[in-house]
Amino acid sequence: MADPKGFLKHGREVAERRPVEERVHDWDEVYPGGMGRALLPIITTQAGRCMDCGIPFCHQGCPLGNIIPEWNDLVWRDDWEGAIERLHATNNFPEFTGRLCPAPCETACVLGIPGDTYGGPVTIKNVEVTIIDKAWESGFVRPQPPEWLSGRTVAVVGSGPAGLAAAQQLTRAGHTVAVYERADKIGGLLRYGIPEFKMEKKHLDRRLDQMRREGTVFRAGVSVGDELTAESLRDRYDAVVLAMGATAPRDLPITGRELGGIHQAMDFLPQSNRASLGEPVEGQVLATGKDVVIIGGGDTGADCLGTATRQGARSITQLEILPEPPSDRPEGQPWPTYPMTFRVSSAHEEAGDRVYSVSTQEFLGDESDNVRALRLVEVAFADGRFEEVEGTEREIPAQLVLFAMGFLGPEKPGLVEQLGVDLDERGNIARDASYMTSVPGVFVAGDAGRGQSLIVWAIAEGRAAASAVDQYLTGSTTLPYPVRPTDRPLVV
Ligand SMILES: Cc1cc2nc3c(=O)[nH]c(=O)nc-3n(C[C@H](O)[C@H](O)[C@H](O)COP(=O)(O)OP(=O)(O)OC[C@H]3O[C@@H](n4cnc5c(N)ncnc54)[C@H](O)[C@@H]3O)c2cc1C
Ligand code: SF4
Repeated sequence: MADPKGFLKHGREVAERRPVEERVHDWDEVYPGGMGRALLPIITTQAGRCMDCGIPFCHQGCPLGNIIPEWNDLVWRDDWEGAIERLHATNNFPEFTGRLCPAPCETACVLGIPGDTYGGPVTIKNVEVTIIDKAWESGFVRPQPPEWLSGRTVAVVGSGPAGLAAAQQLTRAGHTVAVYERADKIGGLLRYGIPEFKMEKKHLDRRLDQMRREGTVFRAGVSVGDELTAESLRDRYDAVVLAMGATAPRDLPITGRELGGIHQAMDFLPQSNRASLGEPVEGQVLATGKDVVIIGGGDTGADCLGTATRQGARSITQLEILPEPPSDRPEGQPWPTYPMTFRVSSAHEEAGDRVYSVSTQEFLGDESDNVRALRLVEVAFADGRFEEVEGTEREIPAQLVLFAMGFLGPEKPGLVEQLGVDLDERGNIARDASYMTSVPGVFVAGDAGRGQSLIVWAIAEGRAAASAVDQYLTGSTTLPYPVRPTDRPLVV
């Protein structure tokens, strides 16, 4: 156990972010010097708050099965090399989850039981990111190439967190792994979805360098199903892992949808990510000087908000059809479940208005057929559906509208159709208990099989699918299998 009285002596403390007026003028992470460094002065005390519970409920919240009390203890004892070893035992990429995870482990922490007098859950995610950032700085993260090669080959399609986790596990198990990615650079949503201010890409590049040194081969700029057909992929490789994400976006086909200035978030964010790193972007969609309306809350909406702020939008409004959530855990969502509460991301601290319980009725155009406003109406939830509240219609100005309403599963034309894999009732790629699709030797991991989810689930699925592929190729495996395809988050 870390400090036996730590939780009695110290409350929960998080690192200060950089001042808003400073950080909105650059694209760097919002913590001074990066997250791990900003946390260093307080993290030993914070790790010392962990009670090493007899039943560590933090484990229930995390699909990776992170051995949280053990690394809290090691940090408190100043054994950073031991801590990263324990952390890497269950998580290939703690620098991603430590920065980006909504931390269901923390809402499940015993110190977070409502009404307790001990100052709130352990800052597990902050301990995690400090361990990995310090490990990189101290040279504790080294390539782990396999000692022997199996002679088996695996193609991974998609280079997001699921594909990368599967690839790293399989490469280290001795298989020859190639990761195919249709974008020009490797990383999936970590590269082109998540903005620099949430995670600087240097963290991704450093990890990819480690993977290359271990032997994973990356093939960026190859859209499987186009220039490389599904048939030739199956001919060339002993097994295939589909980790192609849930990239089909939800649309809003209402009057005025065809007007200029209305875009999907994933048309806007990748361009901005490129531009913020100094890459030329032709015809970039910009928020500069505009009234911006973002339709949809959630991570994607918050990323659009922070990006529009940095581009110098005149005003930003984020619309949400659901009512404003309460700031405290609602009774119907008891500990240790992950509650729907009012959360303030770094982007929300910086700018923008959030408007709840509204639905968009139509987009209104100007004489050049560009959007100039949208008409919205308040809604109330009754009899299992949203109903418009009469007399509450109003117009709000908008020269740029961004859709952040979620995703409908993997894209079907191309690879999915060529392979002929079965889909489940939600349009995701169906799989059995070993992550295998209806096509023998073809597996699926991450959002492509689970539907739109989180990085932590993608990594967990990538690890589990790798275990199943190893079993398929060699008849046995020692790779971990942290989650079943049917496992679900701890929510009500
Ligand atoms: C804007 C945004 C912000 C987010 N922020 C967070 C966050 O802060 N925290 C969090 O936990 N989750 C967040 N999420 C969700 C998270 O990013 C995803 O759940 C996660 O990335 C899914 O990982 P994946 O590996 O399954 O797929 P992805 O990361 O989507 O990667 C799939 C990759 O496959 C490639 N691909 C698709 N088809 C082909 C093909 N035919 N050939 C070759 N390549 C192909 C795609 O180009 C893509 O790069 C966010 C999502 C979005 C959209
Ligand atoms: S539930 Fe909280 S206090 Fe208990 S072991 Fe996990 S992190 Fe530590």
